[in-house]
Amino acid sequence: MTQIQPEHLNPLDSMKERFSNAAKILGIDQMTYDMLINPQKVVIVSLPVILDDGKLKVFEGIRVVHSASMGPSKGGIRYSMNVTLDEVKALAAWMTWKCAVVGIPYGGAKGGIKCDPRNMSDGELERLTRSYTAAMQDVFGPDRDIPAPDMGTNQQTMAWIMDEYSKIKGISSPAVVTGKPLVLGGSLGRVEATGRGVMVTTRSAMAKLKMDPQNCTCAVQGFGNVGSISAKLLAMQGLKIVAISDVTGGYYKKDGINVEEAIEYVLKNNGTLEGFNADRITNEELLTLSVDVLVPAAMEDQITDDNAHAIKAKLIVEGANGPIASNADKILHKNNINIIPDILANAGGVSVSYFEWVQNRLGYYWTEERVNRRADRVMKQAFDTVYLASQKYDVSMRTAAYIVAIDKVASTQKLRGVF
Ligand code: GLU
Repeated sequence: MTQIQPEHLNPLDSMKERFSNAAKILGIDQMTYDMLINPQKVVIVSLPVILDDGKLKVFEGIRVVHSASMGPSKGGIRYSMNVTLDEVKALAAWMTWKCAVVGIPYGGAKGGIKCDPRNMSDGELERLTRSYTAAMQDVFGPDRDIPAPDMGTNQQTMAWIMDEYSKIKGISSPAVVTGKPLVLGGSLGRVEATGRGVMVTTRSAMAKLKMDPQNCTCAVQGFGNVGSISAKLLAMQGLKIVAISDVTGGYYKKDGINVEEAIEYVLKNNGTLEGFNADRITNEELLTLSVDVLVPAAMEDQITDDNAHAIKAKLIVEGANGPIASNADKILHKNNINIIPDILANAGGVSVSYFEWVQNRLGYYWTEERVNRRADRVMKQAFDTVYLASQKYDVSMRTAAYIVAIDKVASTQKLRGVF
C-alpha cells in the first residue's frame, strides 16, 4: 500500500469535530447533541470461516447503526485490513448526514470486516460473507438496515448477502441489500452512480467558481469504482485528467490520460494499474500536483496538516469518505481552496441505492435514463441547498452540508421524542 495512512489520525475525531462545529452554529440543545454524536447500535460478531487450506480463522464482523430516526439505516460494508471500530462508527455517522443532505428517507449505518479480500479466494469470501449475514440476520432487513458495497466489496458480495438472508428468512428479499447484480434486482446506473454524482457536483461547483471544464486539469486519487468512473465522466466533461493512482502508486501524463484505456488496462491486468504507460509518481505527489481540480477517491485521511499547505488545486471534490482530516480544514480554508465535502460529493451512490430499493419494493424497474435523470436532479438540488446554506451562514460548503443534515435529523429526532 503506497497510500498514506497516518497512524495518529482517527476519522471519528474528524467526524465529531465537524459535527460539533455545525451543531454549535445551529444551536442544537445538549440532549439532541448527545443523541446524534453517538451511534444508536454497535454489533460485533465473531465469524469462524474454514479457509481453503482447511484451517479455521475467526474474523471480526462489525455493524454500526448510527441513526435510524429518518428511516431504515443504510450504508455499505467494507472489507479491508484497515477496518477499526472507530472508522466504522465515523463512516456510519457520515451515512446519516449523507442521506439527510440528499433528502432520502434513510438513517445511517456501516459495516466492516478486517480482512484482505485481494488475498482471499472467492470461496473464502463467500463463506465469510454468508457467515456475516447469518450473524447479522436480526440487524439487517429491508425496513431495518440495508447494506451495500463499499471498499473491498462488490456486486457478488451483495448477491451472497441477498441469497443468505433470503434463505434464512424463507422469502425472496432483494430489498435487504443494494448494489446487487442487475439480474438479482439491481438498478441500472447503480455501478456508475457515485462517480456520476461526483461529476454532477463538480460541474455545479465549477460553474459557481467560473472554471471552464475545457481549460481545467484534474488529478484523481484512487481507481476503484468511484475514482475510475469519476475520472471517466469528468474527462467526458472536457477536464484533462493528468494523473490517476491506485494501490500500486500514481500515473502522470502531462497531456492527459486516456481514462477509458486505463479502465480497460486494469480489467486485463489483475485489477491494478501496475505497468500502465505513464510517468510514475507517488500517491502523495499526486495530491500536491499543480491541477485545477483534485478528486481524492481512495480512502480516509489522505490530506492532513502534514501536506495540506502543499495542495495547489482550486477545487477538491471528496469522492472518498473522509479523505481530508479535520486538522487540514483550517489550512485549506486559509488558502482559499474550495471543497465539495464527501457527504455531498459522493452521495450519488446511496441515492441510486435508494432508487434500487424503491424498484425492488415496487417490483417494477426503471430505464437507465430515468435513474440517471432522477439521480442528477437529486445531486443538483442537494448542491444548491448546501451552497445556499454556505452563503446564509457564511461558512464552508462542508460546514453548510453538516448544518443542512443535522438540522433535518435533529428536527426529526425532536418530533419522534425520546424514550
Ligand atoms: N458505500 C457507499 C457510500 O459510502 C454506498 C452506500 C449505500 O449505497 O448504501 O456512500
